[in-house]
Amino acid sequence: MARKPTLSPSRITTYLACPVKYMWTYVDPRGKWFARAKSYYSFGSSLHAVLQKFHDEGETGVQTKEQAVAALEESWVTAGYSSPEEAQEALAEGRELLEAYIESHLASAPEAKTLYVEKQLRKDMGEFVLMGRIDRIDELPDGRIEIVDYKSGRSDTDPNDLLNDIAMNCYHLLLREFMPGKRMLSTIVAVRTGSRTTVEPTPDHLESFRQDIIALGAEILHRDWESLTPVWKDICPECDFIELCKKHPAFVESAGGSLPKEDF
Ligand code: SF4
Repeated sequence: MARKPTLSPSRITTYLACPVKYMWTYVDPRGKWFARAKSYYSFGSSLHAVLQKFHDEGETGVQTKEQAVAALEESWVTAGYSSPEEAQEALAEGRELLEAYIESHLASAPEAKTLYVEKQLRKDMGEFVLMGRIDRIDELPDGRIEIVDYKSGRSDTDPNDLLNDIAMNCYHLLLREFMPGKRMLSTIVAVRTGSRTTVEPTPDHLESFRQDIIALGAEILHRDWESLTPVWKDICPECDFIELCKKHPAFVESAGGSLPKEDF
């Protein structure tokens, strides 16, 4: 039997931002020649790798600021930076962030127990499989489960944004199946500032999200990609695939005066 297609929070977020972008990223192989590495992904994944080692109780390598900095330097990803100097500046910033994060974490003597780090989960949603990787899963002293997501690009988080965060709500759906019957919290940690935002989505909120994801998944799976027409939007100037979209007359027309003159 054929394997079911998989959807992840990043696929869903890409589709919602622009279905054509989803097509170039995941469906049409021509897109891969235009996709470029992003320095902010490299920065985030380098920091995540060290935070994983720091919070993984099975790991003995990273317990102090010095060990964290050494681990960062060892696993530093340089893809996407415009020059070695830019990568070095980002590394210096990463060192500072990690030192501040670990200092404040050790000083706060957290009561939560870390159960899992970088936990990958899958859930059958009918037509597709939902999958996601959760940065950290903690258990609080009162038995509640806290889903922790690190954000390396943000200084703080709005509780409403967190309640509607696609990735976080997907993590709830996945974890509810893995750890049934537990009350669960969503927490975002802004690594830059150490600020934390926590919300507890209600069962009704998660049920409504589950239904939306099933409907959205069906839309993605049954989309007629060949008849999709790119339409100009605010994110186009920063998009890797703009050269592909510019070949479509309807895209140029929808852009009006937004494309630089030499593009016509
Ligand atoms: S250039 Fe614009 S329309 Fe084309 S894929 Fe990117 S975001 Fe979508």
